Amino acid sequence: MKRLLEVNPWKIIEKALHKEDFRLTESIMCLGNGYMGMRGNFEECYSGDFHRGSYIAGVWFSDKTRVGWWKNGYPEYFGKVINATNYIGIRILIDSHEVDLYTASIKEYYRELDMQHGVLTRRFTILHDKKETTIETTRFLSIVDRELAIIKYSVTPNNYHGCITLIPYLDGDVRNEDSNYDEDFWTEISKEVSNYQGNLVMKTKDNAFGTPTFQVATSMQIKVDGMVTNISHNQKNEYVDNTIDVKVEQRKTVSLYKYVAVTTDRDHEASKLVEKGKEILNTALEKGYEKVMEDHKQAWLKRWEIADVEISGDEEGQQGIRFNLFQLFSTYYGGDHRLNIGPKGFTGEKYGGATYWDTEAYALPLYLSTAEPVVGRNLCIYRHNQLEGAYHNARKQGLKGALYPMVTFTGVECHNEWEITFEEIHRNGAIAYAIYNYVNYTGDKDYLHEYGIEVLAGISRFWADRVHFNQKKQVYMIHGVTGPNEYENNVNNNWYTNRMAVWTLTYTLEVVRYLIANGYEGQMEDLQIYKEEVDKWQDIIDNMYFPYDEERGVFVQHDTFLDKNLMTVDKLEIKDRPINQKWSWDKILRSCFIKQADVLQGLYFLNNEFTIEEKRRNFEFYEPMTVHESSLSACTHAILAAELGMEEKAFEMYHRTARLDLDNYNNDTQDGLHITSMSGSWLTIVQGFAGMKIVNETLSFAPFIPTGWESYTFKIIYRDHYVKVMVDKENVIISQDGLALSVKIYDEMKILPKNGKIIISMK
Ligand code: BGC
Repeated sequence: MKRLLEVNPWKIIEKALHKEDFRLTESIMCLGNGYMGMRGNFEECYSGDFHRGSYIAGVWFSDKTRVGWWKNGYPEYFGKVINATNYIGIRILIDSHEVDLYTASIKEYYRELDMQHGVLTRRFTILHDKKETTIETTRFLSIVDRELAIIKYSVTPNNYHGCITLIPYLDGDVRNEDSNYDEDFWTEISKEVSNYQGNLVMKTKDNAFGTPTFQVATSMQIKVDGMVTNISHNQKNEYVDNTIDVKVEQRKTVSLYKYVAVTTDRDHEASKLVEKGKEILNTALEKGYEKVMEDHKQAWLKRWEIADVEISGDEEGQQGIRFNLFQLFSTYYGGDHRLNIGPKGFTGEKYGGATYWDTEAYALPLYLSTAEPVVGRNLCIYRHNQLEGAYHNARKQGLKGALYPMVTFTGVECHNEWEITFEEIHRNGAIAYAIYNYVNYTGDKDYLHEYGIEVLAGISRFWADRVHFNQKKQVYMIHGVTGPNEYENNVNNNWYTNRMAVWTLTYTLEVVRYLIANGYEGQMEDLQIYKEEVDKWQDIIDNMYFPYDEERGVFVQHDTFLDKNLMTVDKLEIKDRPINQKWSWDKILRSCFIKQADVLQGLYFLNNEFTIEEKRRNFEFYEPMTVHESSLSACTHAILAAELGMEEKAFEMYHRTARLDLDNYNNDTQDGLHITSMSGSWLTIVQGFAGMKIVNETLSFAPFIPTGWESYTFKIIYRDHYVKVMVDKENVIISQDGLALSVKIYDEMKILPKNGKIIISMK
C-alpha cells in the first residue's frame, strides 16, 4: 500500500514530483473520453523513467503469440489496444536550454486531476541559470466532441526577459512496452506540416491473422498568445513539429494552445480522415478554447448529476468512489455499441483495452443503474454480435456450442496462456448471467427473443458438451478447469463453474418456456431447440456433481481443495505479499491461498438461492484464505460481508476496492488502473451498504451506515424511475421522479408515491 497523493473529495492532487514512482502517478493522472485516452504523461521532455501511453478505443493489434511450448488450440495472437501517436508533446527551451523536469531544479510543483470537470492541470516553477520560470498546463479530452483534445501551455518568466522556444509535435514513432516481439505496430501513411498546423496519418501494420487494420489521423492546430519572433516547421519519419520562438517579458504570461483532432477509419472513410480532422479543429477554433472547455465541463457535471455518490464523514472513501466513477466513465460511457470496457482502459497495456468477463460480472450492474437503458442493452448486444466468434472458440477446442472468450475484440479468443484460454471457461456463465441481470433490472423481456435466447442456447450447448458423465458415481462432472481463483489450474469440479453451468442451463430452459408461452415456438424451431436437447439439459441440471463438505457445511472450491495445507492469510509474512510477485508460480498453485472470490462469487451472483447461514459458513471459511490479489475480489467480499452484518469487514473491503489504485494496494497500479473493478466501490455502497436487490420484480433495500460515516447518498435509474437514496444515522430517505412504485425496505413493502418520498427509521 502506498499513498502519494492528497485526499480531497473532488481532486487528485500531487504536491511534489515523485520521480521514483512516476509511473504510478502517471497511471492515476489518466484522462479519457470513451473514444481515446492517455496516461498522465508530461507534455515537455522528461528523461526519467516513464511510460508514454496514448490509446484509441477499438484500435487494436493482433500481436503474434509468444509461448515457450506451442500447444494445439492456442490463439495465434494476443489482441491488444495499442499505443498510438503521441499528440500531447510540447518541448520547451528557455534561452536554448531544454526544460526536463527529471533534471530541473524545481521550486514549486503541483499537479491536479479535477474529476468533477475532467481537466488535468499542472503548475511548476523551475530555476535555471538564476532564471525562474513558471509553467502552467491544462489538458482535457472533450466529452462533447470526442475526437478533440486541447492543451493550453502557459509560460511566465518570473525574473527575466528573453526568448523561449516552444515545439509542439505529433510523434507516431511509438511502441507498446508489452509487444511480444518488440515490434512496431504502425506504419506511416502520410504527413503534412506547415506553420501552426500539422497532420500525421498512421496505419496499423498488416497481419497474418486476417484481423482488421486501422488508419488513424492526428491533426494539430497551434495558436499562440504572445510575440512570435520566428516559426518553422519540420518533419521526419513518423513525426511533424512546429518550432516557435517567442519573445517573453518578465512576469508576462505567454500561452500556446494545441488543438488536436484524432480521427480513425472506424468512423470515417480513410481518405477523408485529415479533412475531417481539420473540420473538427476549425469548429473548435471558432468556438474558442474557453467555450469548448466550458461545454466539456458542463457535460461532466451532467454525468455527475446522475451518478455521483456523496459520502459524508469519510473523505478517503469519498475520493475513492469518485475516482473510480471518473475513470470508468472516462473509459466507457456507452456511446458506441462496438466498444466495451477493457480492464485497463486507456491507462496501461498489460490487460489492454480488450473485453473480459469483468464487464458482465462487475461493470454491467453499475451502467444499468447510472446510464440510460440502451447502454446496458448495448453491452449485452456486444456479446450477441460476437456469437460467431464464440462458436469458433468452442469448435477449436473440439466442442459444441459457444465458448465466449476470456480476452477478445471480435469474439475470437485472443489470450495465450493455456490455463486461461482453455480452462477458465467459467466466463461463459457470466455472459449468460448478464442477460438475466439486464432483463431482471430493466424488465426488457423483448431482449430475450431479440438476442438473449441465441446466446443462452449457444452457451448451454457448450456446457452440455463440456460436462462428462461419471459412470461410477452416476453424476455429471466438469474436469480440467481454472475457476475465478486463477491461483489454481487444471482442477476438477470447480464448484463455481459447475454451479454456473447448471444455472445457465436452468435459466435457458426458463427462457425457452417463457418464449414458447409467448408465441415464439417458431424461434425454438429456428434455433433447433428440440425436446431431446432440452431433456439432456434437464438431466445435467438434475445430476450435476457439486463438491460439498458435510463437516464444515461449505461448498468445496474443487475436488482436492480440502487436501491442501489449509491456512489463513494472516499467517503469511509481509515480505511474502503480494504472493504473485514474491512466490514461484508452482508454490502459489500448491498453496491454499485464493486470488479472488471463487465459491463466494457464486454466492454473490445466485444470492437468493442460498440461506444466510450457508453464506456465512462459506464466507468465514474462504475469506480468511483470500489474498485479494485480483482487483475484482474486494467488492464481492464487501457485498457479502454487508449482507452478513459483518460491517467492519465490509467497510475494510470498501476501502480496498475504492482506493485500490489511489493507495496502490496490490503494488501494480504503475502498470495502469484497474478499470473494470472500479465499479466495485459503487456496488459495495449500493448493493452492500444499502442492500439493493431486485427480486421478483421488486426493488428492495436494507441499508446500514458504516461506523464513522455521517451519511451517504446515491441515485439510480430504475426502469421509468429516477430514485435517490439517502442514508444517515437515523433515517433512510428514498425519493423519486416517476409514477408510484412498490419498494421493499427491510422486508416491508412500502409505496414510494409518485414524484414523492418515504422516510424510514434506520434499523
Ligand atoms: C483476474 C481475472 C480478470 C482479469 C482482468 C485477472 O487478474 O483474475 O478474473 O478477468 O484479471 O481484470
